Amino acid sequence: MPELPEVETTKRGVEPYVKNETIKKILVRNNKLRIPFNKNLAKKIINVDIKEIKRRAKYIIFEFVNGYSVVIHLGMTGNLRVSKKIKYLKHDHIIFYLSSGNVLIYNDVRRFGLIQIYKTKESYFLLDNNGPDPFEKEANADYLFSRIKNSTASIKSILLNHKIISGIGNIYASEILFATNISPTRIGKKISYDECKNILIESKKILRKAIKAGGTTLNDYFNAESKPGYFKIQLKVYGRDGEKCKSCKSNISKITQSNRSTYYCKESQN
Ligand SMILES: [Zn+2]
Repeated sequence: MPELPEVETTKRGVEPYVKNETIKKILVRNNKLRIPFNKNLAKKIINVDIKEIKRRAKYIIFEFVNGYSVVIHLGMTGNLRVSKKIKYLKHDHIIFYLSSGNVLIYNDVRRFGLIQIYKTKESYFLLDNNGPDPFEKEANADYLFSRIKNSTASIKSILLNHKIISGIGNIYASEILFATNISPTRIGKKISYDECKNILIESKKILRKAIKAGGTTLNDYFNAESKPGYFKIQLKVYGRDGEKCKSCKSNISKITQSNRSTYYCKESQN
């Protein structure tokens, strides 16, 4: 599943091809996405300059100069690619013809993603449900501490709860907790203010590293299918059950929390 670093990489990848361009035409080949593309609003964005490309949590947003926006979520398997020539691949569902002559193609095998046009100032309901991601200013220690200080949920599930903090996926949650020496089973109200601070510092560090790793694949962006950033960063605990911890001599454990795998060191994290 594309995580925040892959979404940021995608955003950076398409930005130079989309910014200050207009969309001439939109072709919908298959509209059975998580929420069908609301193409009835397409006329609002055709031939209108795209002034900015943004990312909020795992959503990519194109802002048009006339007060409309397009939000894109990649779902489980979605990806965007820019191409000069139109050679349709299987699962190419929505195609934007750009003023430059390039095409921007949304491909999604499992179709859990979405593309929606909305009025920028009215926002989009899915965006409103998201807490800040670790890079946003609101995501400071005061915020995190106040959101979790009465919580009896495990810190692992808190990190995956996008209503509290968005953009931290399952792999990164294990890595962040290892970096902060916090056990994934500890509950929210047992996490100190300083630990909240640390969690945010390490979240940014780890995500930034993954974004950087993902960024190196941008050179062959035209070939699309860039590998997710986490394949390129060294994971310290995720997927390493039974192997030696990198800071003590214990073995890494694997447990299941809310149906998701968690990896951690029982010695180093408590
Ligand atoms: Zn250890």
